Amino acid sequence: MNKSALYHRPESEYAFLYTKDTMRIRLRTEIGDVKKVSLIKGDPYLITFDKWYLDKTPMKKTLSTDLHDYWEIETDSKFHRLQYGFYVEGQDGTEVFYSDQGVFDYKEEFLEVANYYFRMPYFQEIDRFHSPEWVKDTVWYQIFPERFANGDQQNDPKGTLPWGSKLPDREDFFGGDLQGVIDHLDYLVDLGINGIYFCPIFKATSNHKYDTIDYFEIDPDFGDKKLFKQLVDEAHRRGIRIMLDAVFNHMGDYSPQWQDVIKNGPQSKYADWFHIHSFPVDDYDMTDIPETARNLSFDTFAFTPHMPKLNTANPEVQAYLLDIATYWIREFDIDAWRLDVANEVDHHFWKKFRTEVTALKEDFYILGEIWHSSQSWLQGDEFHAVMNYAFTDNIKDFFVNKKISPSKMVSGMNSQQLLYRDQTNEVTFNILDSHDTARILTICDGNKELAKATLTFMFLQKGSPCIYYGTEIGMLGDNDPDCRRCMIWEEDKQDLEMLDFTKELIKLRKDYSEVITYGDLEWQIVDDEKQQLMVSRTVGEKRLSAFFNESTQSVSLDSVGEVLISQNVTEDNSGIHQIGEHGFIVFKAEK
Ligand code: CA
Repeated sequence: MNKSALYHRPESEYAFLYTKDTMRIRLRTEIGDVKKVSLIKGDPYLITFDKWYLDKTPMKKTLSTDLHDYWEIETDSKFHRLQYGFYVEGQDGTEVFYSDQGVFDYKEEFLEVANYYFRMPYFQEIDRFHSPEWVKDTVWYQIFPERFANGDQQNDPKGTLPWGSKLPDREDFFGGDLQGVIDHLDYLVDLGINGIYFCPIFKATSNHKYDTIDYFEIDPDFGDKKLFKQLVDEAHRRGIRIMLDAVFNHMGDYSPQWQDVIKNGPQSKYADWFHIHSFPVDDYDMTDIPETARNLSFDTFAFTPHMPKLNTANPEVQAYLLDIATYWIREFDIDAWRLDVANEVDHHFWKKFRTEVTALKEDFYILGEIWHSSQSWLQGDEFHAVMNYAFTDNIKDFFVNKKISPSKMVSGMNSQQLLYRDQTNEVTFNILDSHDTARILTICDGNKELAKATLTFMFLQKGSPCIYYGTEIGMLGDNDPDCRRCMIWEEDKQDLEMLDFTKELIKLRKDYSEVITYGDLEWQIVDDEKQQLMVSRTVGEKRLSAFFNESTQSVSLDSVGEVLISQNVTEDNSGIHQIGEHGFIVFKAEK
């Protein structure tokens, strides 16, 4: 047995409270190396009595990566305290006891030694990871407000171009606004989505509004607060939740605070609001960008002088940002914040943020924009989830980019899920494209069948999926600014077949929410040679199965249950299904 591969860590994604009375425990072993793992557990204060620990309860092998197998168990404790260790039996016959003191060659007498064990000292309900229930049934729709719909030409900024008259350049304005969103809420209801994720809507100079000037004002190009209140109310009436984008890492250089720093230098009362190395702060040459980036006298977002980085360790800045965070909940009843560049803001601030917003609205959803491993933000006291690019990139790399094999994709997806507690995975935010990436249909080279297969595969995974505006009607767009084209509203220019398909997929996700959110994940076929995958999700007696064929050869599949959604599938008289290239079939399966 490879003992060095054994890994467990208390109070982490390897050992966490799932409900107030149950704990989930994971153990990692080398792939294929271990035959059986059992949990040994007991209450530490019963040691003075006879045999204080309960005998070996087998753990279940769940997900594997290309290096490791993972074993899991859900357990409880009458007195809400637990000490536990692992009895591990290797394929080679080795038996070990793995505990807080390391790995021992197994001897029955070790089990008596209480201080060898891992501990969950007490089941602290307040520390348990709580996630908002509603997110589990939510299908999101991302709106880039400048490009969704122009509902009011009165507020169009100077130089606004006719809607969709050209492909977007960086500085273009097309007049999209909040009235345009209100006008199309019924379209979104018909589509079936029940959450809108808005890119920033606060006062800023650019068309993307990530360079905030005033966090307490709606950008006049988009409307005003009264209109925004109406939008939230009308959305809520239709069962649609609202998520806004909070840019707290940095501010726009036109903000009064930064302008004051430019004017008053070290004497500015905002001098400590930013990370400034020397004054003056506007002493750079924008005609020589590479040199400017190296010589800026202050920290920015990604070397952008227009976006000076905020010092969130300063209590005044904290108070200011927390006031913004709570203001839009108190006054407008928003349901979620998406936190821009969340990984570059300190943990102290995010913990305060979590406390304040959830005190106002218990089931508020907090989503961080983080593109890499995010365990330290997902301990239950900061975010609920992150934008799950690291997970969905695996899907794109197999289905679309053909860069990795099915088994590598599965390994990557499993690895990502194993980084987090189940509560995070149940509400994570899955996207294939956004305002920051090329559109899914574009990266599929316009191959609609491939795009549909990829979307369907993503919709069957744990987490709440998001549709980027226009995907449902087959819109194209390369990396930004091209992915920010004007929404197409003329029906004769929309792909209505794609629209019907998207509706069907959204309905499936909502109808099978329980299975997709909680279902055990089983990879039944992962065939690198044939480029085929079959996956099932099971909760109790309910089971969904899905088969995907990414080879050019058609394959046959028998014993298929009630078909829920499919593509490139034919059925012969004897009930055998033929699945062609980019074909898939999702069906209700017998357990
Ligand atoms: Ca407008």
